[in-house]
Amino acid sequence: MTATGTVVGVDLGGTKIAVALVTAGHEVLARHRVPTPAGGPHAVVDAIVEAVAAVGGAPGHVGVGAPGPIMDGVVMTAPNLPGWREPFPLADRLTDRLERPVTVGNDANVGTLGEWAAGAGRGSRFMLGVWLGTGVGGGLVLDGRPYDGAFGGGGEFGHVCVRQGGALCGCGRRGCVEAYAGRACMEQAVATAASQGHPTALLDIAREKGQGRVKSGTWAKALEQGDELATRVLGEAVDALGAAVGSAVNLLDLDRIVVGGGLTEKLGQDLADRVAAAARPYMLVPGDRRVVVAELGDDSGVVGAAALARAAAGASPAAFEG
Ligand SMILES: [Zn+2]
Repeated sequence: MTATGTVVGVDLGGTKIAVALVTAGHEVLARHRVPTPAGGPHAVVDAIVEAVAAVGGAPGHVGVGAPGPIMDGVVMTAPNLPGWREPFPLADRLTDRLERPVTVGNDANVGTLGEWAAGAGRGSRFMLGVWLGTGVGGGLVLDGRPYDGAFGGGGEFGHVCVRQGGALCGCGRRGCVEAYAGRACMEQAVATAASQGHPTALLDIAREKGQGRVKSGTWAKALEQGDELATRVLGEAVDALGAAVGSAVNLLDLDRIVVGGGLTEKLGQDLADRVAAAARPYMLVPGDRRVVVAELGDDSGVVGAAALARAAAGASPAAFEG
């Protein structure tokens, strides 16, 4: 770390790479964004090196949030990143190129860390982060420390099973919460129902907007109009999230659940309240467990990645709390 404690956080996504210079107080001083290159891991390394140079400063450690399971800085699989077909040692390659220590974590875990350090999870000791996007991501903070388990696979909330033999998930298994609450699966459910003759404004709105996919804004608009199919599919998503959150609470005795991602940004605390209400009947031990909406928006990734870098540099977890 530099004297001021400024570090660089990198959020590597399927479509863009966001890089920010972040202070010890979690304030973003400078940011830079580039499209994720399609040429595979080596092209991504080049793009990150350039983007880190572009935000300037003299950072010590660098933190990166990347999709997929991460083990010891190796990105094991990244189906959302074009050209990544086998495990790639991202932390080692970036450390070589940047000539400074680089720590890589799973993007959902890193986003959770960002919300815990500087957003809606501040002050929590047992927190679950839930990220509603194309899929459903998750991350955990347990007893005041980020937790990713024995093999780096901890916090995979999206693949908690809520219905044995249920709907097909993007992971190839059945009945995962993502199979009901991930946008890709929700869209699939809508397309299937529409093809069976159930009318819906969702596909019309998406078409009007010239979008091939049903995005979060389209969901929000259809729900606002009281579209029956959209309302039903979202209801099933809320039920699945409730069962999974309730089960997670029974297992881990969480005090806070932070819900983020595109759909949450559109629907706000109302969605979090519905998830809380759906989860309550599953909980064995009552408690003051808050379900709240993420606060940092797009910045949770870079702020969390910076917090990861700071932790790797030896800062105490308290330093996260800002
Ligand atoms: Zn799954």
